[in-house]
Amino acid sequence: MLKGKTALVTGSTSGIGLGIAQALAAQGANILLNGFGDSEAAKAQIAAAGQAHGISVDYHGADMSQPAEIEAMMAFGAQRFERLDIVVNNAGIQHVASVEDFPVEKWDAILAINLSSAFHTTRLALPAMQQANWGRIINVASVHGLVGSVQKSAYVAAKHGIVGLTKVTALENATTGVTCNAICPGWVLTPLVQKQVDARAAAQNISTEAATKQLLGEKEPSMQFTTPQELGELAVFFCSAAANNVRGVAWNMDGGWAAQ
Ligand code: NAD
Repeated sequence: MLKGKTALVTGSTSGIGLGIAQALAAQGANILLNGFGDSEAAKAQIAAAGQAHGISVDYHGADMSQPAEIEAMMAFGAQRFERLDIVVNNAGIQHVASVEDFPVEKWDAILAINLSSAFHTTRLALPAMQQANWGRIINVASVHGLVGSVQKSAYVAAKHGIVGLTKVTALENATTGVTCNAICPGWVLTPLVQKQVDARAAAQNISTEAATKQLLGEKEPSMQFTTPQELGELAVFFCSAAANNVRGVAWNMDGGWAAQ
């Protein structure tokens, strides 16, 4: 379905980004991956997912908190693949503290990585998408783009912000073949959430299993994690022809979290 298209997935060395990159690769898209850590292992997994289509996979290590590095990555992508047809803004970090104790440098980093980076990739990718009259921008927001939780001021502010950016980008391109939508996961068991489970277990001196159950029980009625594979399939749907007129939605996959 996506043969001949190229997708940039930011923060795709791990977790949800890796799952989305694999799902798009399985549909035949070339992938430009990005993120910290073991890029070679991620590259191999993505290449394996797209093997039947003979896709190309490349890596750029831009730090998504740095606009100049994002510009370099976008220029590299355009040169290496001609055009970036699909941009998945996924890179993100978390920090938990109450507002009055929130470290200023953490606030700035979360806003830069979880929100401003998507503005930069979007503004730089749009002209070529508009010229081709086809493009897909998918923002990995969160259920925290729709509702708040204590101790997560920067994250919730950034995620509400990216839902707003999604709507405006969708509206500005509404008469074209370029769509922009957001995905809003509830809990997904990735390294980002594992840290929160571990911190909870340590703080209360309880087992990891008990901390996991407690975490899910507070917010997620299904008592199940959403998986990166399921989120990957939603991204594939947004890229399909059936989603040509899906514009500016914030689609939750949250086990009922936001329905409460
Ligand atoms: P993760 O920690 O597994 O992956 C984060 C990815 O972002 C990694 O590849 C990491 O290297 C990359 N990254 C972090 N800082 C970066 C930077 N400065 N520059 C470039 N890359 C950077 O986390 P995840 O859970 O897969 O999260 C991915 C996205 O999904 C985030 O935007 C997160 O807010 C969102 N999300 C996660 C959950 C969840 O429950 N895990 C729920 C809702 C939304």
